[in-house]
Amino acid sequence: KVRVRYAPSPTGHLHIGGARTALFNYLFAKHHQGDFIFRLEDTDVERNIDGGEASQLDNLAWLGIVPDESPLNPNPKYAPYRQMERLDIYQKYTQELLDRGLAYKCFCTPEELDKEHERQVNAGVAPMYNRKCRDLTPEEVKEKEAAGIPYTIRVKVPAGKTYEFNDMIRGHVSFESDDIGDWVLVKANGIPTYNYAVVIDDHTMDITHVFRGEEHLSNTPKQMMIYEMLGWTPPTYGHMTLIVNEQRKKLSKRDESIMQFVSQYKDEGYLPDAMFNFMALLGWSPEGEKEIFTKEELIKEFSENRLSKSPSMFDKDKLTWVNNRYIKDRSLENVIDLCKPFLEKAYDLSNRSDEWINMLVATYHDQLSYGKEIVGLVDLFFNDELNLNDEAKEFMQDESIPNTLKVFKNQLANLDEFTKESIQMCIKATQKEAKVRGKMLYMPLRIATTGIMHGPDLASSICLLGKEKVLSRLEQF
Ligand code: GLU
Repeated sequence: KVRVRYAPSPTGHLHIGGARTALFNYLFAKHHQGDFIFRLEDTDVERNIDGGEASQLDNLAWLGIVPDESPLNPNPKYAPYRQMERLDIYQKYTQELLDRGLAYKCFCTPEELDKEHERQVNAGVAPMYNRKCRDLTPEEVKEKEAAGIPYTIRVKVPAGKTYEFNDMIRGHVSFESDDIGDWVLVKANGIPTYNYAVVIDDHTMDITHVFRGEEHLSNTPKQMMIYEMLGWTPPTYGHMTLIVNEQRKKLSKRDESIMQFVSQYKDEGYLPDAMFNFMALLGWSPEGEKEIFTKEELIKEFSENRLSKSPSMFDKDKLTWVNNRYIKDRSLENVIDLCKPFLEKAYDLSNRSDEWINMLVATYHDQLSYGKEIVGLVDLFFNDELNLNDEAKEFMQDESIPNTLKVFKNQLANLDEFTKESIQMCIKATQKEAKVRGKMLYMPLRIATTGIMHGPDLASSICLLGKEKVLSRLEQF
């Protein structure tokens, strides 16, 4: 059975990159009727943040990615799912590696290591641990331990070996063991390093496939040597390419051109199914031209063979487009629920009826890309001042305009019911009576009532502004 995992460190909130890693693992698992496991790599204790795990899980759940197994939903056969709760498991294998002479205790101090590193850099050689402690005698080791000198545990990297594998995305990849120094399995505080713990976890949790970021490509040979030493078979790896911004630069956490955390999209009123769809296209492409997919369709279509070998650009326009498509497909009630909290926060709605709010949202339903966008779009309905730009002022100089406005004002003044339909009739009647049409009809009415040259449906806009305000604005001109 296919078993994949997403293994974040709880050092931050769910990032776009992490979410995409989780998403591809999830799609692959579900495509093969397999399991998607959430495991926590929490060994970097100082960098863990409060609530990091919950935040990762909550944001994944918002996207519709619910793990089959996690710390909250453990399978007793594989639990626990947090590395800090698995220290005794690692300890057992560490002892085995030490007993078999495949790993050793290293008593070098951080100062010594730094000095050696510096010396190597100055000498122009690739820095690598000089293996000073590799051949300590058992007596020397005992002595140092008895003296209470802290130690790390390093692996004896075999000489002259080639580690090769078939990456699901990159194809054949190989590394030489001679380029890898004796790296640390267990730190002086007894906590294993990522490269070591990940092997024990992936193996003991029966992980079959691993999709992860390309920054882990060079870690793979390190992990492979542990598999080999313990007589285990590594999972099949796929290293995904980077996500880049529109300047084709790697997304750095500080890049402000793009919102980087999933929660930010949630907070701005993006739709989770749209985000799921959009992110699935970040580094994967379906066979045809189609771009809008339900989750079920994505699960069915997903194939690791169509994962991209080149960086994937985070295209904001596409995100906007995809979200708009999903919003359009939602019911009006649904979109009202989406927009209302943003409106309530930005404007005083206390004297606005539900009917009015519904009409307001309905007017923008088709053009809306995300919930919060409504705030900027509807600003004109909450502003008492009309601020015409130069182009609009210029336009209003035409000599036909005062008459057009006067005719329209009289039409409106006679209305008993101020509705979209009745306003539409007044516009038509104005066309006849003032003998103006097209742009010379609509533009003056729009500018005089809303102050802007382009906006949503004119009759709806006038209706939303209300009779009193519209009449006084027409009067002003
Ligand atoms: N905690 C690692 C990361 O977030 C997981 C790497 C892996 O998937 O092996 O990058």
